[in-house]
Amino acid sequence: MALIVQKYGGSSVADADSIKRVAKRITEAKRAGDDVVVVVSAMGDTTDELIDLAQQVTPLPPQREMDILLTAGERISMSLLAMAISNLGVEAQSFTGQQAGVITDDVHGRARIIDVSPSRIQAAVDSGAVAIVAGFQGVTQRTNDVTTLGRGGSDTTAVALAAALGADVCEIYTDVDGVFTADPRIVPSARKIDRISYDEMLEMAASGAKVLMLRCVEYARRYGVPVHVRSSFSTRTGTLVTDTPDEGGAPMEQPIIAGVAHDRSEAKITIVDVPDVPGKAARIFQVVAGSGVNLDMIVQNVSVASTGRTDISFTLPASDGAAATAALTEHQPDIGFTSLQYDDMIGKLSLIGAGMKSHPGVSAKLFAALSDAGINIEMISTSEIRISVVTRADQLDDAVRAVHTAFDLDSSEEQAVVYGGTGR
Ligand code: ADP
Ligand code: ASP
Ligand code: MG
Repeated sequence: MALIVQKYGGSSVADADSIKRVAKRITEAKRAGDDVVVVVSAMGDTTDELIDLAQQVTPLPPQREMDILLTAGERISMSLLAMAISNLGVEAQSFTGQQAGVITDDVHGRARIIDVSPSRIQAAVDSGAVAIVAGFQGVTQRTNDVTTLGRGGSDTTAVALAAALGADVCEIYTDVDGVFTADPRIVPSARKIDRISYDEMLEMAASGAKVLMLRCVEYARRYGVPVHVRSSFSTRTGTLVTDTPDEGGAPMEQPIIAGVAHDRSEAKITIVDVPDVPGKAARIFQVVAGSGVNLDMIVQNVSVASTGRTDISFTLPASDGAAATAALTEHQPDIGFTSLQYDDMIGKLSLIGAGMKSHPGVSAKLFAALSDAGINIEMISTSEIRISVVTRADQLDDAVRAVHTAFDLDSSEEQAVVYGGTGR
Protein backbone atom coordinates (compact mmCIF):
# COMPACT_ATOMS: atom_id res chain seq x y z
CA MET A 1 0.00 0.00 0.00
CA ALA A 2 1.33 3.39 -0.96
CA LEU A 3 0.62 6.90 0.22
CA ILE A 4 -0.07 9.13 -2.76
CA VAL A 5 -0.53 12.88 -2.80
CA GLN A 6 -2.57 13.92 -5.82
CA LYS A 7 -2.93 17.56 -6.85
CA TYR A 8 -5.67 18.68 -9.24
CA GLY A 9 -5.24 22.05 -10.98
CA GLY A 10 -8.01 24.52 -11.74
CA SER A 11 -8.83 23.24 -15.23
CA SER A 12 -9.30 19.72 -13.81
CA VAL A 13 -12.04 20.95 -11.45
CA ALA A 14 -13.50 23.72 -13.61
CA ASP A 15 -17.17 22.76 -13.16
CA ALA A 16 -19.47 20.30 -11.37
CA ASP A 17 -18.99 17.57 -13.97
CA SER A 18 -15.19 17.89 -13.78
CA ILE A 19 -15.34 17.68 -10.00
CA LYS A 20 -17.37 14.47 -10.26
CA ARG A 21 -14.89 13.06 -12.80
CA VAL A 22 -11.95 13.83 -10.51
CA ALA A 23 -13.84 12.38 -7.52
CA LYS A 24 -14.23 9.13 -9.45
CA ARG A 25 -10.53 9.01 -10.19
CA ILE A 26 -9.69 9.58 -6.53
CA THR A 27 -12.04 6.85 -5.31
CA GLU A 28 -10.53 4.42 -7.83
CA ALA A 29 -7.06 5.04 -6.35
CA LYS A 30 -8.46 4.64 -2.86
CA ARG A 31 -10.32 1.43 -3.71
CA ALA A 32 -7.16 0.05 -5.31
CA GLY A 33 -5.75 0.08 -1.78
CA ASP A 34 -3.67 3.25 -1.62
CA ASP A 35 -3.96 6.02 0.94
CA VAL A 36 -4.78 9.24 -0.86
CA VAL A 37 -4.28 12.87 0.13
CA VAL A 38 -5.60 15.37 -2.39
CA VAL A 39 -4.57 18.99 -2.91
CA VAL A 40 -6.94 21.04 -4.99
CA SER A 41 -6.78 24.41 -6.77
CA ALA A 42 -9.62 26.87 -7.24
CA MET A 43 -12.15 26.02 -9.96
CA GLY A 44 -11.17 27.12 -13.49
CA ASP A 45 -10.12 30.77 -13.62
CA THR A 46 -11.61 31.62 -10.20
CA THR A 47 -8.37 33.14 -8.86
CA ASP A 48 -8.07 35.48 -11.86
CA GLU A 49 -11.72 36.43 -11.55
CA LEU A 50 -11.31 37.25 -7.85
CA ILE A 51 -8.27 39.41 -8.68
CA ASP A 52 -10.31 41.24 -11.35
CA LEU A 53 -13.10 41.77 -8.84
CA ALA A 54 -10.71 43.27 -6.28
CA GLN A 55 -9.32 45.61 -8.94
CA GLN A 56 -12.83 46.87 -9.59
CA VAL A 57 -13.17 47.79 -5.93
CA THR A 58 -9.79 49.45 -5.49
CA PRO A 59 -6.66 49.88 -7.62
CA LEU A 60 -4.38 48.89 -4.70
CA PRO A 61 -6.06 46.18 -2.61
CA PRO A 62 -4.45 45.66 0.83
CA GLN A 63 -2.42 42.46 0.54
CA ARG A 64 -3.78 40.92 3.71
CA GLU A 65 -7.36 41.23 2.43
CA MET A 66 -6.30 40.04 -1.02
CA ASP A 67 -5.02 36.81 0.51
CA ILE A 68 -8.24 36.22 2.43
CA LEU A 69 -10.19 36.81 -0.77
CA LEU A 70 -8.09 34.48 -2.92
CA THR A 71 -8.05 31.60 -0.44
CA ALA A 72 -11.84 31.48 -0.77
CA GLY A 73 -11.38 29.96 -4.24
CA GLU A 74 -9.73 26.81 -2.92
CA ARG A 75 -12.28 26.49 -0.11
CA ILE A 76 -15.05 26.21 -2.67
CA SER A 77 -13.36 23.47 -4.68
CA MET A 78 -12.15 21.48 -1.66
CA SER A 79 -15.57 21.21 -0.09
CA LEU A 80 -17.33 20.39 -3.37
CA LEU A 81 -14.75 17.70 -4.09
CA ALA A 82 -15.18 16.18 -0.62
CA MET A 83 -18.96 16.10 -1.19
CA ALA A 84 -18.56 14.46 -4.59
CA ILE A 85 -16.26 11.78 -3.14
CA SER A 86 -18.64 11.10 -0.24
CA ASN A 87 -21.42 10.71 -2.78
CA LEU A 88 -19.43 7.84 -4.31
CA GLY A 89 -19.39 6.04 -0.97
CA VAL A 90 -15.88 6.92 0.15
CA GLU A 91 -15.36 9.03 3.24
CA ALA A 92 -13.68 12.38 2.54
CA GLN A 93 -12.88 15.43 4.67
CA SER A 94 -11.64 18.79 3.46
CA PHE A 95 -9.16 21.04 5.27
CA THR A 96 -7.99 24.62 4.80
CA GLY A 97 -4.25 25.30 4.62
CA GLN A 98 -4.32 26.33 8.26
CA GLN A 99 -6.10 23.15 9.34
CA ALA A 100 -3.60 21.13 7.32
CA GLY A 101 -0.74 22.73 9.28
CA VAL A 102 0.80 24.75 6.45
CA ILE A 103 2.83 27.43 8.22
CA THR A 104 4.38 30.26 6.20
CA ASP A 105 6.35 33.47 6.58
CA ASP A 106 4.32 36.68 6.48
CA VAL A 107 4.96 37.87 2.93
CA HIS A 108 1.39 38.20 1.68
CA GLY A 109 0.85 37.17 -1.93
CA ARG A 110 4.01 35.08 -2.16
CA ALA A 111 4.53 33.51 1.23
CA ARG A 112 7.09 30.76 1.69
CA ILE A 113 6.24 27.59 3.54
CA ILE A 114 8.44 27.29 6.62
CA ASP A 115 6.87 24.24 8.22
CA VAL A 116 4.15 21.67 7.61
CA SER A 117 2.60 19.86 10.57
CA PRO A 118 -0.05 17.69 8.99
CA SER A 119 -1.28 15.86 12.10
CA ARG A 120 -4.95 16.32 11.19
CA ILE A 121 -4.30 15.07 7.67
CA GLN A 122 -2.45 12.04 9.00
CA ALA A 123 -5.31 11.34 11.41
CA ALA A 124 -7.88 11.57 8.60
CA VAL A 125 -5.84 9.16 6.49
CA ASP A 126 -5.37 6.78 9.43
CA SER A 127 -9.14 6.73 9.90
CA GLY A 128 -9.53 5.56 6.31
CA ALA A 129 -10.73 8.85 4.84
CA VAL A 130 -9.47 10.73 1.82
CA ALA A 131 -8.09 14.08 3.03
CA ILE A 132 -8.68 17.03 0.69
CA VAL A 133 -6.45 20.05 1.29
CA ALA A 134 -6.93 23.56 -0.08
CA GLY A 135 -3.84 24.38 -2.12
CA PHE A 136 -2.03 27.72 -2.39
CA GLN A 137 -2.64 28.82 1.21
CA GLY A 138 -1.16 28.79 4.66
CA VAL A 139 -1.11 30.76 7.84
CA THR A 140 1.68 32.90 9.28
CA GLN A 141 3.65 31.69 12.23
CA ARG A 142 3.72 35.14 13.79
CA THR A 143 0.19 36.48 13.44
CA ASN A 144 -1.98 33.56 12.34
CA ASP A 145 -3.01 35.60 9.30
CA VAL A 146 -3.98 33.78 6.12
CA THR A 147 -1.38 33.88 3.32
CA THR A 148 -1.14 32.71 -0.28
CA LEU A 149 1.93 31.13 -1.83
CA GLY A 150 2.00 32.93 -5.20
CA ARG A 151 0.40 31.95 -8.51
CA GLY A 152 0.47 28.23 -9.14
CA GLY A 153 1.10 27.69 -5.43
CA SER A 154 -1.05 24.55 -5.10
CA ASP A 155 1.82 22.65 -6.71
CA THR A 156 4.01 23.69 -3.79
CA THR A 157 1.36 22.75 -1.23
CA ALA A 158 1.21 19.28 -2.76
CA VAL A 159 4.95 18.67 -2.72
CA ALA A 160 5.33 20.12 0.78
CA LEU A 161 2.58 17.83 2.07
CA ALA A 162 4.10 14.85 0.26
CA ALA A 163 7.44 15.58 1.94
CA ALA A 164 5.89 16.07 5.39
CA LEU A 165 3.78 12.90 5.13
CA GLY A 166 6.61 10.83 3.63
CA ALA A 167 4.43 10.06 0.58
CA ASP A 168 5.71 7.66 -2.06
CA VAL A 169 4.93 10.01 -4.92
CA CYS A 170 3.34 13.38 -5.61
CA GLU A 171 1.09 13.29 -8.68
CA ILE A 172 0.35 16.66 -10.30
CA TYR A 173 -2.79 16.33 -12.43
CA THR A 174 -3.23 19.01 -15.06
CA ASP A 175 -4.68 19.66 -18.53
CA VAL A 176 -1.77 18.28 -20.62
CA ASP A 177 -0.15 14.83 -20.58
CA GLY A 178 3.04 15.90 -18.82
CA VAL A 179 5.99 18.20 -19.26
CA PHE A 180 6.65 18.79 -22.95
CA THR A 181 9.65 20.13 -24.86
CA ALA A 182 7.63 23.39 -25.21
CA ASP A 183 4.19 24.63 -24.21
CA PRO A 184 1.77 22.48 -26.26
CA ARG A 185 -0.53 25.50 -26.60
CA ILE A 186 2.14 27.15 -28.78
CA VAL A 187 3.94 24.15 -30.24
CA PRO A 188 1.48 21.32 -31.03
CA SER A 189 4.41 19.18 -32.22
CA ALA A 190 6.09 19.39 -28.80
CA ARG A 191 7.25 16.06 -27.42
CA LYS A 192 6.35 14.67 -24.02
CA ILE A 193 9.41 14.23 -21.81
CA ASP A 194 9.34 10.86 -19.96
CA ARG A 195 11.88 11.73 -17.25
CA ILE A 196 13.47 15.04 -16.37
CA SER A 197 16.01 15.95 -13.68
CA TYR A 198 15.18 18.41 -10.91
CA ASP A 199 17.80 20.85 -12.24
CA GLU A 200 16.36 20.97 -15.73
CA MET A 201 12.79 21.18 -14.43
CA LEU A 202 13.90 23.98 -12.13
CA GLU A 203 15.24 25.97 -15.09
CA MET A 204 12.11 25.26 -17.14
CA ALA A 205 9.88 26.45 -14.29
CA ALA A 206 12.06 29.49 -13.59
CA SER A 207 11.89 30.36 -17.30
CA GLY A 208 8.10 30.43 -17.46
CA ALA A 209 6.94 26.82 -18.10
CA LYS A 210 4.07 27.17 -15.66
CA VAL A 211 3.17 23.47 -15.71
CA LEU A 212 5.00 23.31 -12.36
CA MET A 213 5.56 26.21 -9.99
CA LEU A 214 9.25 26.98 -9.41
CA ARG A 215 9.09 26.64 -5.64
CA CYS A 216 7.43 23.25 -5.89
CA VAL A 217 10.41 21.97 -7.88
CA GLU A 218 12.87 23.49 -5.38
CA TYR A 219 11.00 21.79 -2.57
CA ALA A 220 10.84 18.46 -4.40
CA ARG A 221 14.57 18.54 -5.09
CA ARG A 222 15.45 19.43 -1.50
CA TYR A 223 13.34 16.63 -0.02
CA GLY A 224 13.80 14.14 -2.87
CA VAL A 225 10.07 13.90 -3.62
CA PRO A 226 9.43 12.19 -6.98
CA VAL A 227 6.86 14.26 -8.91
CA HIS A 228 4.68 12.69 -11.61
CA VAL A 229 3.11 15.33 -13.87
CA ARG A 230 0.16 13.91 -15.81
CA SER A 231 -3.28 14.64 -17.19
CA SER A 232 -6.49 14.26 -15.19
CA PHE A 233 -8.28 13.84 -18.53
CA SER A 234 -6.39 10.72 -19.70
CA THR A 235 -4.78 7.65 -18.14
CA ARG A 236 -1.45 8.12 -19.91
CA THR A 237 1.79 8.00 -17.98
CA GLY A 238 3.14 11.51 -17.70
CA THR A 239 6.55 12.95 -16.87
CA LEU A 240 8.57 11.86 -13.86
CA VAL A 241 10.66 14.60 -12.28
CA THR A 242 13.43 12.79 -10.41
CA ASP A 243 17.18 12.32 -10.20
CA THR A 244 16.82 8.56 -9.72
CA PRO A 245 17.69 6.41 -12.75
CA ASP A 246 14.84 4.27 -14.07
CA GLU A 247 14.26 0.68 -12.95
CA GLY A 248 16.51 -0.89 -15.54
CA GLY A 249 19.31 1.06 -13.87
CA ALA A 250 19.94 2.85 -17.16
CA PRO A 251 21.40 6.31 -16.62
CA MET A 252 18.96 9.15 -17.14
CA GLU A 253 18.71 9.94 -20.80
CA GLN A 254 20.52 13.22 -21.22
CA PRO A 255 19.73 14.97 -24.47
CA ILE A 256 21.64 18.19 -25.11
CA ILE A 257 18.44 20.20 -24.99
CA ALA A 258 15.53 19.42 -22.66
CA GLY A 259 13.16 22.05 -23.96
CA VAL A 260 12.20 25.61 -24.81
CA ALA A 261 10.34 27.74 -22.27
CA HIS A 262 8.73 31.12 -22.73
CA ASP A 263 7.60 33.89 -20.43
CA ARG A 264 5.25 36.72 -21.25
CA SER A 265 5.03 38.10 -17.74
CA GLU A 266 8.20 40.18 -17.69
CA ALA A 267 8.89 43.84 -18.44
CA LYS A 268 12.05 45.79 -19.22
CA ILE A 269 13.25 48.96 -17.53
CA THR A 270 15.97 51.04 -19.18
CA ILE A 271 17.70 53.68 -17.10
CA VAL A 272 19.00 56.30 -19.50
CA ASP A 273 22.22 58.28 -19.10
CA VAL A 274 23.61 56.86 -15.88
CA PRO A 275 26.99 58.44 -14.90
CA ASP A 276 29.57 55.74 -15.72
CA VAL A 277 31.43 55.84 -12.40
CA PRO A 278 31.96 53.12 -9.79
CA GLY A 279 29.05 52.56 -7.42
CA LYS A 280 26.17 53.61 -9.69
CA ALA A 281 25.11 50.07 -10.63
CA ALA A 282 25.35 49.04 -6.99
CA ARG A 283 23.14 51.98 -6.01
CA ILE A 284 20.55 51.23 -8.69
CA PHE A 285 20.22 47.60 -7.72
CA GLN A 286 20.15 48.41 -4.01
CA VAL A 287 17.20 50.70 -4.69
CA VAL A 288 15.42 48.03 -6.76
CA ALA A 289 16.11 45.30 -4.20
CA GLY A 290 14.90 47.62 -1.45
CA SER A 291 11.51 47.77 -3.17
CA GLY A 292 11.24 43.99 -2.80
CA VAL A 293 11.62 43.33 -6.53
CA ASN A 294 13.53 40.35 -7.97
CA LEU A 295 15.18 41.26 -11.22
CA ASP A 296 16.32 38.91 -13.89
CA MET A 297 18.50 39.88 -16.87
CA ILE A 298 20.79 42.92 -16.71
CA VAL A 299 22.57 44.66 -19.57
CA GLN A 300 24.85 47.69 -19.37
CA ASN A 301 25.67 49.42 -22.64
CA VAL A 302 29.15 50.60 -23.55
CA SER A 303 29.42 54.14 -22.27
CA VAL A 304 29.69 57.05 -24.67
CA ALA A 305 33.26 58.34 -24.22
CA SER A 306 32.34 61.97 -24.80
CA THR A 307 29.66 62.04 -22.10
CA GLY A 308 30.90 59.38 -19.66
CA ARG A 309 27.34 58.15 -19.41
CA THR A 310 25.72 54.81 -20.13
CA ASP A 311 22.33 53.06 -20.23
CA ILE A 312 21.45 50.14 -17.98
CA SER A 313 18.53 47.82 -18.79
CA PHE A 314 17.07 45.00 -16.75
CA THR A 315 14.02 42.74 -16.80
CA LEU A 316 11.67 42.06 -13.92
CA PRO A 317 8.18 40.61 -13.39
CA ALA A 318 5.73 43.11 -14.93
CA SER A 319 3.69 42.87 -11.73
CA ASP A 320 6.64 44.52 -9.93
CA GLY A 321 7.02 47.25 -12.56
CA ALA A 322 5.18 49.97 -10.65
CA ALA A 323 7.11 49.36 -7.42
CA ALA A 324 10.52 49.38 -9.13
CA THR A 325 9.74 52.47 -11.22
CA ALA A 326 8.50 54.38 -8.17
CA ALA A 327 11.60 53.48 -6.14
CA LEU A 328 14.00 54.46 -8.93
CA THR A 329 12.20 57.74 -9.62
CA GLU A 330 12.42 58.63 -5.95
CA HIS A 331 16.20 58.13 -6.08
CA GLN A 332 16.73 59.81 -9.47
CA PRO A 333 18.55 62.83 -7.94
CA ASP A 334 21.17 60.79 -6.10
CA ILE A 335 21.68 58.22 -8.89
CA GLY A 336 21.81 61.00 -11.47
CA PHE A 337 20.18 59.38 -14.52
CA THR A 338 18.23 61.38 -17.10
CA SER A 339 15.12 59.27 -17.66
CA LEU A 340 13.47 55.86 -17.29
CA GLN A 341 11.84 53.78 -20.02
CA TYR A 342 9.34 51.08 -19.15
CA ASP A 343 8.45 48.43 -21.72
CA ASP A 344 6.09 45.53 -21.00
CA MET A 345 5.72 44.41 -24.60
CA ILE A 346 8.60 41.98 -24.34
CA GLY A 347 8.79 38.19 -24.30
CA LYS A 348 11.51 35.92 -23.01
CA LEU A 349 12.54 32.66 -24.63
CA SER A 350 14.81 30.20 -22.83
CA LEU A 351 16.55 27.11 -24.14
CA ILE A 352 17.26 24.59 -21.37
CA GLY A 353 19.47 21.53 -21.28
CA ALA A 354 22.02 20.06 -18.89
CA GLY A 355 23.93 18.74 -21.89
CA MET A 356 24.60 22.18 -23.37
CA LYS A 357 27.47 22.92 -21.00
CA SER A 358 29.62 20.36 -22.78
CA HIS A 359 28.43 21.19 -26.31
CA PRO A 360 29.81 24.24 -28.07
CA GLY A 361 27.70 25.95 -30.70
CA VAL A 362 24.36 25.89 -28.93
CA SER A 363 24.12 29.70 -28.72
CA ALA A 364 25.22 30.10 -32.34
CA LYS A 365 22.47 27.72 -33.47
CA LEU A 366 19.89 29.53 -31.34
CA PHE A 367 20.79 32.96 -32.72
CA ALA A 368 20.84 31.62 -36.30
CA ALA A 369 17.35 30.12 -35.84
CA LEU A 370 16.00 33.45 -34.59
CA SER A 371 17.68 35.45 -37.32
CA ASP A 372 16.36 33.08 -40.02
CA ALA A 373 12.88 33.69 -38.60
CA GLY A 374 13.45 37.46 -38.77
CA ILE A 375 13.35 37.89 -35.01
CA ASN A 376 15.45 40.57 -33.33
CA ILE A 377 17.17 39.77 -30.02
CA GLU A 378 17.11 42.59 -27.46
CA MET A 379 18.89 41.00 -24.50
CA ILE A 380 20.77 37.78 -23.81
CA SER A 381 21.70 35.94 -20.63
CA THR A 382 23.18 32.53 -20.02
CA SER A 383 23.73 30.05 -17.22
CA GLU A 384 25.40 26.64 -17.33
CA ILE A 385 22.26 24.94 -18.54
CA ARG A 386 20.16 27.79 -20.00
CA ILE A 387 20.31 30.52 -22.63
CA SER A 388 17.63 33.21 -22.51
CA VAL A 389 16.82 35.95 -24.99
CA VAL A 390 14.36 38.83 -24.94
CA THR A 391 12.28 39.51 -28.05
CA ARG A 392 9.23 41.62 -28.89
CA ALA A 393 6.15 40.05 -27.26
CA ASP A 394 4.31 39.62 -30.55
CA GLN A 395 7.21 37.60 -32.01
CA LEU A 396 7.58 35.26 -29.06
CA ASP A 397 5.37 32.42 -30.33
CA ASP A 398 7.15 32.38 -33.69
CA ALA A 399 10.49 32.45 -31.90
CA VAL A 400 9.56 29.44 -29.74
CA ARG A 401 8.43 27.43 -32.77
CA ALA A 402 11.55 28.33 -34.79
CA VAL A 403 13.93 27.36 -31.98
CA HIS A 404 12.01 24.16 -31.19
CA THR A 405 12.36 23.06 -34.81
CA ALA A 406 16.01 24.15 -35.12
CA PHE A 407 16.97 21.90 -32.20
CA ASP A 408 15.09 18.89 -33.68
CA LEU A 409 12.63 18.77 -30.82
CA ASP A 410 9.50 18.37 -32.98
CA SER A 411 7.74 15.04 -32.56
CA SER A 412 7.16 12.98 -35.68
CA GLU A 413 4.30 11.17 -33.97
CA GLU A 414 0.96 12.44 -32.71
CA GLN A 415 0.35 16.07 -31.75
CA ALA A 416 0.32 17.11 -28.12
CA VAL A 417 -3.19 17.32 -26.65
CA VAL A 418 -4.44 20.23 -24.57
CA TYR A 419 -7.49 18.83 -22.77
CA GLY A 420 -8.84 21.90 -21.04
CA GLY A 421 -8.09 25.22 -19.46
CA THR A 422 -8.20 28.65 -21.03
CA GLY A 423 -4.44 29.19 -20.96
CA ARG A 424 -5.03 32.23 -18.77
P1 ADP B 1 -3.12 23.72 -13.57
O1 ADP B 1 -4.37 24.56 -13.58
O2 ADP B 1 -3.40 22.27 -13.71
O3 ADP B 1 -2.21 24.04 -12.43
P2 ADP B 1 -1.41 25.28 -15.30
O4 ADP B 1 -2.16 26.15 -16.26
O5 ADP B 1 -0.82 25.93 -14.11
O6 ADP B 1 -2.37 24.08 -14.91
O7 ADP B 1 -0.24 24.49 -16.04
C1 ADP B 1 -0.52 23.71 -17.18
C2 ADP B 1 -0.23 24.50 -18.43
O8 ADP B 1 1.18 24.75 -18.49
C3 ADP B 1 -0.51 23.77 -19.71
O9 ADP B 1 -1.87 23.89 -20.09
C4 ADP B 1 0.44 24.44 -20.70
O10 ADP B 1 -0.21 25.42 -21.47
C5 ADP B 1 1.45 25.15 -19.81
N1 ADP B 1 2.84 24.81 -20.14
C6 ADP B 1 3.84 25.72 -20.35
N2 ADP B 1 4.98 25.11 -20.66
C7 ADP B 1 4.73 23.78 -20.66
C8 ADP B 1 5.54 22.62 -20.92
N3 ADP B 1 6.83 22.72 -21.23
N4 ADP B 1 4.96 21.40 -20.83
C9 ADP B 1 3.65 21.29 -20.49
N5 ADP B 1 2.84 22.34 -20.26
C10 ADP B 1 3.37 23.58 -20.33
N1 ASP C 1 -5.52 29.01 -7.62
C1 ASP C 1 -4.15 29.47 -7.54
C2 ASP C 1 -3.74 30.13 -8.85
O1 ASP C 1 -4.54 30.20 -9.76
C3 ASP C 1 -3.18 28.39 -7.18
C4 ASP C 1 -3.03 27.27 -8.19
O2 ASP C 1 -3.85 27.10 -9.08
O3 ASP C 1 -2.06 26.54 -8.06
O4 ASP C 1 -2.64 30.59 -8.98
MG1 MG D 1 -0.60 25.42 -12.08
